[in-house]
Amino acid sequence: MLRGDAAVAFKQLAAAYEKHFDQAICLTSAYRDRALQAKLYAADTVMVAMPGRSHHGLGLATDLCGGIEKFGTPQHEWMKKNAGEFGFFHPDWAQPGGVTPEPWHWEFKVDEYPAND
Ligand SMILES: [Zn+2]
Repeated sequence: MLRGDAAVAFKQLAAAYEKHFDQAICLTSAYRDRALQAKLYAADTVMVAMPGRSHHGLGLATDLCGGIEKFGTPQHEWMKKNAGEFGFFHPDWAQPGGVTPEPWHWEFKVDEYPAND
């Protein structure tokens, strides 16, 4: 589940990915409500954003699998090259040299983020 505009864009990205790899894109997680975010945060305060701080709570973030979850794989490289065309990006903090490197985490870019609490 994603915010409407992000969901439409993600469907297009997923179709392009599937056309290229002949395999459906693998999605681990997208929207998380506050209760789930709190539960995840309680289990891991380092890797998991505080409730109210995650873009998963806005329905703008995806966690992907199927190879995308590792840096340097063809799937991850494809995302780096093509995600931007569909409005998705890999945030700086999730890059190999970022605060918490998360190759799987990709977000839909919006000009303004709504309140998240
Ligand atoms: Zn994520």
